[in-house]
Amino acid sequence: MSELNLILIGPPGAGKGTQADRLQDDFRIPFISTGDMLRQNVKDGTELGKRAKQYMDAGGLVPDEVIVAMVADRLHRPDAEDGFILDGFPRTVAQAQALDQQMKAAGRHITAALLVDVPDEEIIKRISGRRVCVKSGHTYHVEFDPPKNDSVCDEDGSRLVQRDDDKPEVVRNRLEVYSEKTAPLIDYYDDQGLMRRVDGTRSPAEVHDHIRAMIATLRMEDDV
Ligand code: ADP
Ligand code: ADP
Repeated sequence: MSELNLILIGPPGAGKGTQADRLQDDFRIPFISTGDMLRQNVKDGTELGKRAKQYMDAGGLVPDEVIVAMVADRLHRPDAEDGFILDGFPRTVAQAQALDQQMKAAGRHITAALLVDVPDEEIIKRISGRRVCVKSGHTYHVEFDPPKNDSVCDEDGSRLVQRDDDKPEVVRNRLEVYSEKTAPLIDYYDDQGLMRRVDGTRSPAEVHDHIRAMIATLRMEDDV
């Protein structure tokens, strides 16, 4: 079977992480979130984490060369040989070009870029209600996906918190950065015929069904 090399694109809070979790179970390929990798580095106090934190706290982007090297390293690991789902990368046209070069050098190609499309007013609701487990990073929503017990993770009983960059003053900046730096990727992948759009305003289960159907079609096309 051909490789499945997927990119998830969408504004912050669109539900990319929620979908990647489910897709990872379906396809047994690693889900690679640059946001999660960076947060782990910050937590561990690595050099990379120290460098990235200032940009993340302000809702800006970590410099391209730092991110590109981090992702290249991750994609070389054996578990990504049969494919991967990238969430949060690429986020600039320069990152997309660097990824294309790496893929070409390895004789691979991107299968598709999936845009999880959600309007700004819904994004604000999703981000302001997002809560994450301090230990596992598992994500909840106070209204749309509440934990069984208030502020406690269903899976391991750890505390749920709001991410620092999910506070309203930072969110505004993240949305601006998205439309300025990341939205141009829609044209970039459209021009390559790789862009697929999903209506992200539906329920998580409906969005998931739509993406799965899309991937089944992509696979059939790829195998012909
Ligand atoms: P969300 O999905 O809510 O937008 P992420 O968890 O993907 O947030 O990213 C959190 C932060 O990590 C971003 O605001 C940015 O500072 C940094 N970051 C993550 N991925 C990248 C990337 N590809 N390039 C630059 N910065 C990134
Ligand atoms: P992203 O990874 O794109 O930043 P998340 O997957 O973390 O987004 O989702 C953002 C918030 O919205 C979370 O609190 C999540 O529980 C909630 N959420 C995700 N998908 C949906 C959906 N389809 N409908 C309603 N809420 C959702």
